[in-house]
Amino acid sequence: MSEPSYQPETLAVHAGTVRSQFNEHSEAMFLTSSFVFDNAAQAAARFIGEEPGNIYSRFTNPTVTMFEERLAAMEGAEQCVATASGMSAILACCMGLLKSGDHIVASRSIFGATVNLFGSILKKFGVETTFVSATDVSEWSAAARPQTKLFFLETPSNPLTEVSDIAAIAAVAKKSGALLAVDNCFCTPILQRPLELGADIVIHSATKYLDGQGRVLGGAVLGSKKNMEGVYQFLRTAGPTMSAFNAWIFLKGLETLKIRMDAHSANALAVAQWLEVQPNVARVYYPGLPSHPQHQLAMQQQKTGGGIVSFEVKGGREAAWRVIDNTQMVSITANLGDTKTTLTHPATTTHARITPEARAAAGITEGMLRIAVGLEAASDIQADLARGLG
Ligand SMILES: *Cc1c(COP(=O)(O)O)cnc(C)c1O
Repeated sequence: MSEPSYQPETLAVHAGTVRSQFNEHSEAMFLTSSFVFDNAAQAAARFIGEEPGNIYSRFTNPTVTMFEERLAAMEGAEQCVATASGMSAILACCMGLLKSGDHIVASRSIFGATVNLFGSILKKFGVETTFVSATDVSEWSAAARPQTKLFFLETPSNPLTEVSDIAAIAAVAKKSGALLAVDNCFCTPILQRPLELGADIVIHSATKYLDGQGRVLGGAVLGSKKNMEGVYQFLRTAGPTMSAFNAWIFLKGLETLKIRMDAHSANALAVAQWLEVQPNVARVYYPGLPSHPQHQLAMQQQKTGGGIVSFEVKGGREAAWRVIDNTQMVSITANLGDTKTTLTHPATTTHARITPEARAAAGITEGMLRIAVGLEAASDIQADLARGLG
C-alpha cells in the first residue's frame, strides 16, 4: 500500500496496516514489552539479525511499525523511526548522524527546546551550532564550514510564521556536504513535503497535529534507509522509543489529518483576515495572507497557510494580556495542533527564558499573541478574541 500513486489522505487511512491472525479491521494495539520465539535457534537468529521479526519493544513493536510505515508513505520517505517525543526525534537525529567536532547550521527561529539542545547540550559533547536567519539564504552559505554536517530549520517558524525556502537551503546544504533536516511539525505532510523539495530528513513532533487532540507525546525522524540506520541504532540502544499505545493514537490521528488540516487552515485564514481589520491590531503574521512577506513562497511550498496565526496588539503586554484574560472559550496554553483553539503570549511563556535583546532581535514583542486555531466555528473564535481587543 505504498504505491506513490495514492494521495496522502488515502495513505493516511491505509498505509502500513498489517493484520494479525484475527483479521481485525482497525489496527491492533500490541501492548507487550517482549516477543517469544519458537525455539532457541530462532531466538539466536533474531538477535543477530539473520531472521527478521520482533524481539523487544525498545527495538520494534508491530503497532509502532504500522505508524512508521504510514507516516513514511505520507512523507515519501524510505524509512521512518518513531520516538517518544518530538525532542527525542531531534536528539536521535543528531546522535545518529553527528559526532564530536561536527558543526550544525540552524535557523534562529526554531523551537526553544531545540535551541537549548543545540546551543547547550550538544555543545557539551563537542558539536557546535551557528544560528542564522530563517529567510536569508546567504547567511546559510556563509555559516557553512568543512565540519558542517547538518542544516536544521522549521517552516513556518514559531511564532512569527517566517517561511524558509526549503529548496534553496537544500541546494546550499548539498553544496556544503551537509544534510538538511526540516521540522515539519506546523505543516504536516498534508500541507508540505520537505523531501520532495530536496530536504534529506523530516522531523515531527507527533504530539501536535498528527495526534491532533492533545492526548499523547511522540515524534518521528524520516529519511533514507542509509541516514536512518544510525538514528535507529541510537534509539534501540538509548531507548527513547515510542510506546505502542501512543503509536496507536497516532495511527488513528493520521486517518483524519487531511480533513483536520483543511479545517484548521480555513479557520486560521478567516481569523487572520478578521484580525487584520481590527483597529487595535497593529500587525498580523500568517503565511496565507498576501501581506505576509513570504506569501508567494509559502503558497508554492505549502498547500495552505496552516493553522497558526500570530498578531500584535496595540498597547504592549497589558493589552495582550487583556485579550487573553477576557477569553471565555479558547484555552490559555502554549500547546498547539489541537481541536481546541489555544492562545499564548510568547514573550512571557515560550520565549520568556531568552534575553530581552534576543527576543527583540527575533521580533517577539510584548504585544504579540500566538493563536493555534482549532476546529470551533471561526465566528466563535473571533468573538472570543474580540472581548478583550476593545
Ligand atoms: C512541540 C514542538 C517540538 C517538540 O516536540 P515534543 O513532542 O513536545 O517533544 C519540536 N518542534 C516543534 C516545531 C514543536 O512545536
